[in-house]
Amino acid sequence: MGTIWVGVDDTDAKGSGCTTWVLTELLGLAREQRLDPIGPPRLVRLNPNIPWKTRGNAALSVRLGHGRGRRRWVGTLSGRRLFAYASGAEPTTAELERFARAAWQVVLDASPEAEGTDPALVVASRRPSPELYWKAVREVVAVDEARAALDAVGALVRTRGDPRGLVGAAAAIAWPARRGTWELLSYRQPERVGKPRTIDPETVRAAQRADRRLFLCHDPVTRRLLVAPHTGCPVLFGLRATAPEAAVRALRTVRSEPWERWVLFRTNQATGDHLLRRSAASIVPFLSAILPGTVSAPPRALAGGHVLFSVRDEEGDEVRCVAFEPTKTLPRVAQALLPGDRVVVWGSASRPATLRLEGIRLVRRVRVRRLSAPACPRCGGRTGSLGRGRGWRCRSCRLRLPPEHATTSVIPRAVRPGTYHPTPSARRHLAPRATEPAAARADDPQSMPRATDGGPGARTSSRAPGLARAFERFPAPPEREEDT
Ligand code: ATP
Repeated sequence: MGTIWVGVDDTDAKGSGCTTWVLTELLGLAREQRLDPIGPPRLVRLNPNIPWKTRGNAALSVRLGHGRGRRRWVGTLSGRRLFAYASGAEPTTAELERFARAAWQVVLDASPEAEGTDPALVVASRRPSPELYWKAVREVVAVDEARAALDAVGALVRTRGDPRGLVGAAAAIAWPARRGTWELLSYRQPERVGKPRTIDPETVRAAQRADRRLFLCHDPVTRRLLVAPHTGCPVLFGLRATAPEAAVRALRTVRSEPWERWVLFRTNQATGDHLLRRSAASIVPFLSAILPGTVSAPPRALAGGHVLFSVRDEEGDEVRCVAFEPTKTLPRVAQALLPGDRVVVWGSASRPATLRLEGIRLVRRVRVRRLSAPACPRCGGRTGSLGRGRGWRCRSCRLRLPPEHATTSVIPRAVRPGTYHPTPSARRHLAPRATEPAAARADDPQSMPRATDGGPGARTSSRAPGLARAFERFPAPPEREEDT
């Protein structure tokens, strides 16, 4: 006897398939076998720096049982409503085994036979420790480590090809879901998959305007629609929200080609779970980090509009920080920093001691004073410098003045203290939720970005293809486009 936890990963190829869709197929199978979701289906994003991910490093899980008590509408499959229950009676071992057998066939049928598609399915009556999730979202987990965690809970495991998918499938089950957001994914009619999507962008923008609990629907700065993937996968659009009812309500108002099914997922998107405070010396490739420190080298503009500067942490170690152009806000903020500024930076490591920035908080600005020529106290004329440390001489009456007569003024700064996030289209799925620009500022690309709330420490997705290209130009492990 026990609950059935189901985890699945690595079922998609670059141009086709989608692990979230495979989970909807598993939900259909569960219904056929008279099993209900206990709690919502879960879409879990893992370490965004894993080089072998297909797109957004998503893994999926759901708990199944015989639903009891309060229920929530979490989808429509084959024209019928799907409900997730607050609690459930435990299925028998025979039911668990029957589900596991049929589920593997469903996963195989739904996974393209393509290079890099190595599906994994986990069915377990107990969950691995949350530690596995924390490691999988922040670091690299060895397959053997995931397998040992699954063995410890007596999980049934199926893989085809490379067993690496076990890491994601196990971590998706292990996710404690203490904090998170929601994403409603709608799916296309099969005959339309691969063709251009028809979605009315104005209805998406109106939905977000009408309900501030929706987020990352569109980017007013780059004018991109962020709800639809750019790949040939079966997803039509995804509505991200902080409250489940906001996403379900918005589904009714977005005009698009007809969807064939939809499912509402609980997700760790926008939680910042991948970020951990680290020292400069401990920043190595594939990790993400939050680093408080002091700007130690002046910003330098790189080709393509990216900006490089350095930050020294309290132990005296330095990290190179790259603000990429497609993030729009970050290079402009970086360019305005001065050595001595106190900052907190966060992002992912491409090489040792190098961070590709996902955000900057300017904590305290250094005050830089400028010395300038004083006015002549005798005739009011202009004075000129006699050379470093040698004082000043009036250009009209020739009066000499000692160096300390210089006028001092504080250099005005182009950037204010505050937290700066990438423009919405350049935010990662896991990036901490933050205020989005209310109106287009694309008309004024030179204006300094406004600081917003949220961000690491304050504890409060999708990636543009342009950002992926920028990452590639800067020597780093290849990054791929992230999509829903
Ligand atoms: P999609 O978002 O469309 O589902 P994807 O980007 O999730 O695709 P996958 O095809 O699932 O890409 O490939 C990611 C692979 O990396 C999976 O096999 C997964 O188990 C593995 N993986 C994920 N996170 C980690 C990690 N932290 N350490 C080691 N392996 C990981």
